Amino acid sequence: MARVLVLIDTGHGGQIDGKYDPRAGGRKFTHPDGTTIFEGEFNKYIATGIIFELTKLGIPYVHLTPEYEDRTLQTRVDRANKYRRKKCFFLSIHANAGPAPNVGNGFEIFTSRGNTKSDKIATIIGEEFKKMFPNKRLRTDFTDGDLDKESPNFFVLRKTAMPAVLTENFFMDNFQECKNIMMTREGRNKIIDFHVEAIKRVISELY
Ligand SMILES: [Zn+2]
Repeated sequence: MARVLVLIDTGHGGQIDGKYDPRAGGRKFTHPDGTTIFEGEFNKYIATGIIFELTKLGIPYVHLTPEYEDRTLQTRVDRANKYRRKKCFFLSIHANAGPAPNVGNGFEIFTSRGNTKSDKIATIIGEEFKKMFPNKRLRTDFTDGDLDKESPNFFVLRKTAMPAVLTENFFMDNFQECKNIMMTREGRNKIIDFHVEAIKRVISELY
């Protein structure tokens, strides 16, 4: 396998001393039964699980945002772009929600604009998602021929100098997805595992 560096960005901050800092849009959601999810905590759990597997596999990575204090989008991009001369790609982990009162469901991937390698990475991630969660929705737009959505609106996707994708791993405000997938170890491990399977394929098929 080629030596490819995986740049992992975990969206938003975490909890410190019982306080959650939802700067830059990090959300939390409490369901009527009391189930509460903090997006930043969820993102860090998924990223940590991915990192554990990459370590075992000997795949090099950089965790761009290991701190529990939130970091600005510019800081995230600056940290990623230090590696622009290496063979690398950028993976940002997030969870979805709303906008209220509409409750969505499923998995979404966004890519940097017009970068064909980002599209190919997103396609592989989508395929691995479907293998792991065949009954869950891959929210995609096939009309333009690629699996993913290009979004000019995500700063980290616009400003990073390497292929970049952002995954939105189910909907915090969807009670079933939150309770059964996002807030269970089993569900989180499945999310970790399909990302890892995708990363392995990206490295062997695209580099
Ligand atoms: Zn987010």
